[in-house]
Amino acid sequence: MQKQDLYEQAELMMLEYQGMHHLRNTPERRLILRAIVEHTGGFTPADVIEWVGPNFISAATVYNTLKMLENAHVVHCLHAQHNGRLMRYELTLGEQSTIQIVCAKCGRISTVRDKSTEIALHMKKYPNFIMRHYSVYVFGECKHCAKLAMQKLNAARKSQ
Ligand SMILES: [Zn+2]
Repeated sequence: MQKQDLYEQAELMMLEYQGMHHLRNTPERRLILRAIVEHTGGFTPADVIEWVGPNFISAATVYNTLKMLENAHVVHCLHAQHNGRLMRYELTLGEQSTIQIVCAKCGRISTVRDKSTEIALHMKKYPNFIMRHYSVYVFGECKHCAKLAMQKLNAARKSQ
């Protein structure tokens, strides 16, 4: 995914969240988001302050914005220190990494947000290999097909 597309997608998620929670979209928040998208990989709030420039941004703004972006699922926290200061974050959006649920009966596919699996996959290390992105398919039965199967079963029971 191109950086600009990535930024636009991330901004859209941020705007959606801000809209839902009546938060303002400030230039500082956009600067922080832009810096995160520009620098690939994990980062700390201190990194963000350095990227944006300590003269432009306060530490409190960076911490608050990262918390908001985490709630909006734009970033996720990889490590949190007990003193609440040395946190390590990562952009959740990436090279179109997706988790999709597939109905094995009708073939219906839906993309799902599954934060714990996403974090687990992002933290996964394979020997002699650098992971860039992933695709996960979870197979099963959709609600519609499960209901149909149940109706067929009930009909078969009645006719016995
Ligand atoms: Zn189905």
